[in-house]
Amino acid sequence: MSPSHLYDVIVVGGGAVGLGATYEVAKSGKSVLVLEQNCFFNGAGSSNDLARMYRTMYTEKFMAKLAHKSLKMWKDLERDAGTALRSMTGLLNFGDPTLGDDTPEGSLTGPICNLKELKMPFREMKKHEIEEEYPFKNLPDGFEGVYAPDNGVINVPLLLRTLHRLAKDYGAHARQYVQVRKLVPSKAQDGQEEIWTVEALEDGKAIQYRARKVIITMGAYTNHVTEPSFGMRLKLTIWEMVSSYFNINAGPNGTVFPSMWFQFANNKKVGDEERSQLFYGFPALEWGPPNVCRIAVDAATHIISDPDQRSAHVISPEDIADTQEFVKNHVVGVDSTVPAYSSSCLMTNVFDNMFVLDFVPEEYLQGGAKNSVVLFTAGWAMKFVPLLGRALKDMALHGHSDLGLDEFKIDLSGIISHSTLKASSAKFYNLDAPHTSALCRSTE
Ligand SMILES: Cc1cc2nc3c(=O)[nH]c(=O)nc-3n(C[C@H](O)[C@H](O)[C@H](O)COP(=O)(O)OP(=O)(O)OC[C@H]3O[C@@H](n4cnc5c(N)ncnc54)[C@H](O)[C@@H]3O)c2cc1C
Repeated sequence: MSPSHLYDVIVVGGGAVGLGATYEVAKSGKSVLVLEQNCFFNGAGSSNDLARMYRTMYTEKFMAKLAHKSLKMWKDLERDAGTALRSMTGLLNFGDPTLGDDTPEGSLTGPICNLKELKMPFREMKKHEIEEEYPFKNLPDGFEGVYAPDNGVINVPLLLRTLHRLAKDYGAHARQYVQVRKLVPSKAQDGQEEIWTVEALEDGKAIQYRARKVIITMGAYTNHVTEPSFGMRLKLTIWEMVSSYFNINAGPNGTVFPSMWFQFANNKKVGDEERSQLFYGFPALEWGPPNVCRIAVDAATHIISDPDQRSAHVISPEDIADTQEFVKNHVVGVDSTVPAYSSSCLMTNVFDNMFVLDFVPEEYLQGGAKNSVVLFTAGWAMKFVPLLGRALKDMALHGHSDLGLDEFKIDLSGIISHSTLKASSAKFYNLDAPHTSALCRSTE
């Protein structure tokens, strides 16, 4: 297809969410092109590594409802793919039940009333049960657990390749090494229809593509296109995170983690510094190297505001040392001496750790048609890829999705950090405590 072809939709960014949207648009019978600045399945953004958690335990009621809705969408995708994309091990959250919900994963007991309300199965566990059933030791007195079976390990490499394959099977076009630079509102050949010209660099040469609608799924890189195109910069807090894989005892009497797990515990004070004790882990993966398991800390090694500030592949010795100490003191049958290997990854956040899922507001579109550019970034999104793909498709093609919640609006105070428009024309509104009323606490 020549660059002058007019697509129904162009998706900018071919990570997990962009591929999910491309798949959904193609499946609906519309023409779609996904443009990726690197190769597909790259490590430049957030969708690398072998595994991500699919979980239903949310402290925020609206997120719990979304997780509940996404259960069916995963099954639909897996049916279409003819293969399971998750290993449904369940998830054990354990730790200090008094810890507040100011963690990236909410609180330990916060999700319980949501699980009850949504009739999702779960089991509460005592410290001794956790130590009997899992390879943990010396957990502090008072630690408790909540296990939810409807949770599982997402096979990330298979998910990405499946979405890419299915999207192409449904007729999508996919181009890698095309870096989008700017979206420019234009007219179609009839001189009437409002469309977008997507200006890009391919092999260092300028190239243009054209589409009626654009979906932006560039993760941490979002401002690289929104700023030159719309004069709009989102206030992104980008975490460089480290994941380590450790060797586990291959037997006799080998080490088995029956499920994924996450520890809720207070920070540790080291001198003036607070070090996170939010550790999480996965069982050994059928699709990964044998006898290694991922154990890592859920915290940022560095915090940056643009991916260009990334310190490439520098793995934090402090994060690794904290994880080794946790493994040594609290995990049985995992070798803490040295990690088998480590990798780094970008995690994009906005002020409330939620998604941004919305249309670019009309006043930024430089004359482009209302609701013609949809944007997604930020948040812990891998578990919602089928749901977000559907939401982005519906928003681009039909101008609306029930999944585009108010909590994900782009013009919430604290998301747009800078614009060349006057604030008065940008429809800012303040929301002092956006999610407090939507929290569900088990003590209620
Ligand atoms: C260590 C870690 C653990 C995580 N754990 C979980 C978890 O357990 N569960 C969960 O649900 N989520 C988890 N997440 C979050 C999840 O991985 C991300 O939310 C998800 O990968 C985001 O996908 P994305 O497609 O939005 O972004 P990305 O994967 O970053 O994709 C964006 C793509 O856009 C491309 N791009 C950028 N600029 C341009 C341009 N100008 N032109 C063309 N292409 C461009 C990039 O190259 C990239 O491929 C974790 C993240 C990290 C880092």
